[in-house]
Amino acid sequence: MSSVAVALQNIRKNIPHGVALVCVSKFHPAEAVQEAYNCGERLFGESRVQELTAKAERLPKDIQWHFIGHLQSNKIKYIAPFVSMIHGVDSYKLLVEINKAAQKVGRTIDCLLQIHIAQEETKFGFSAHEVKEMLQQGEWKSLAHVRLCGLMGMATFTDNQLQVAEEFTRLTSLFNEVKALHFANQAHFAHRSIGMSDDYGVAIQKGSTMVRIGSSIFGTRA
Ligand SMILES: *Cc1c(COP(=O)(O)O)cnc(C)c1O
Repeated sequence: MSSVAVALQNIRKNIPHGVALVCVSKFHPAEAVQEAYNCGERLFGESRVQELTAKAERLPKDIQWHFIGHLQSNKIKYIAPFVSMIHGVDSYKLLVEINKAAQKVGRTIDCLLQIHIAQEETKFGFSAHEVKEMLQQGEWKSLAHVRLCGLMGMATFTDNQLQVAEEFTRLTSLFNEVKALHFANQAHFAHRSIGMSDDYGVAIQKGSTMVRIGSSIFGTRA
């Protein structure tokens, strides 16, 4: 068995039914994606537009590509025709731009709103206050070509598991709050995209429905 296959077998044991696994293949070659595909994986995550489009062209068409990085408005058009979900929507303006690009290609794109839960200043995302205000304001409801499917977040880069747990818990509570207020009857608003190689166990305990795992599957990135 290949190392990717062995890693996937171990990781799959820890992921309960109902939690989706996004295999984060960024910086790894198309061959590595194909190996994971051959093990049955269909959800793959990339964080750079050019890398994503190059891989999508070469690889099987039934792969669902998730864009998980910071997306620049001028690059949306390259992924709009095929991307399955965009995780890192961190401003209303970006949502409007995704809507426009999706309309042009006759699609509706599933999106997650990125919430800033970490201590670091550098991580992108809405604050809890900002996202509540944006949803309350209601203008987003007129964007017919994007579908809000939940929230995404990244914990602080730290060994302190208690802090990470607290940050994930905050994201899940925020999800529950906005779900009740704005998406109570919308089954598709269902996702908490939290958890990476080092913290997906905690994330699952704290309500993750989607983990994004890279290095534990494909090895360290160059
Ligand atoms: C790279 C990346 C991951 C995967 O990180 P690993 O630690 O390699 O599992 C998950 N989410 C985002 C947003 C990433 O950029």
